[in-house]
Amino acid sequence: MNLVLFGPPGAGKGTQSQLLVEKYKMIHVSTGELLRAAIKNKTPLGLEAKKFVDAGNLVPDSLMIGLIKEVMEKKKGGLLLDGFPRTTAQAEALDELLTKEGTPLKKAVFLEVPKELLKSRLTGRRICTKCGTTFHVELHPPTLNRICDNCGGELEHRADDQPEVIENRLEVYEKNTAPLKEYYRETNNRFVPVDGVGDPQDVFSRLKKVLEI
Ligand code: ADP
Ligand code: ADP
Ligand code: ZN
Repeated sequence: MNLVLFGPPGAGKGTQSQLLVEKYKMIHVSTGELLRAAIKNKTPLGLEAKKFVDAGNLVPDSLMIGLIKEVMEKKKGGLLLDGFPRTTAQAEALDELLTKEGTPLKKAVFLEVPKELLKSRLTGRRICTKCGTTFHVELHPPTLNRICDNCGGELEHRADDQPEVIENRLEVYEKNTAPLKEYYRETNNRFVPVDGVGDPQDVFSRLKKVLEI
């Protein structure tokens, strides 16, 4: 089964993806992580994407659709798409790709979290530079300061998790990504909202319930 997990920045997509992957061995595809790796390695995609990611803007659809096609050619199995699609054009392209493969998308899960909570989640987020595990300075602190519990790697504060960039990302979300709720509602009633407030394990229980897993 392929699954889309979408929602505003900071809704907990990455956190819930980690829990889903641990338990159900789905293939986690985070376009944000793929872009950050491309930027770090200065690949052609990374060089083009950097200015958009740094400013908290969306990377153009043509680049993102190209990236997801590449991922789908390489990875076969149940994909957990985290952070893709983010625009209606991307959602349409994804539907076309998955339908062609004979595995049409059945559900798009939306993690619902109020805006004020998102800001504090994003400013406190810290990410492992080695394995990508996500922490939060107050809500989910690592055992040792700035060190990953999972792999001992160093934790970093993403450049786009600074307050001015966060504001822009939330606006970009409202304008471009929030309309996907309507898109998935109108196309085969695939929109599945989940309350994203509360302990991550409680959110995970709600998620499993709606996914019937
Ligand atoms: P997204 O991938 O949607 O941007 P993340 O999973 O990275 O969101 O979560 C953003 C921040 O909020 C992280 O620091 C994470 O540790 C924290 N977080 C995630 N889920 C919860 C939750 N249910 N309650 C409190 N904090 C959370
Ligand atoms: P968050 O977890 O806070 O939602 P991501 O790690 O998913 O953030 O994405 C980080 C940045 O990467 C976005 O702000 C955007 O610049 C870029 N990005 C990720 N996915 C997409 C996408 N599907 N379309 C366009 N830009 C994207
Ligand atoms: Zn780590």
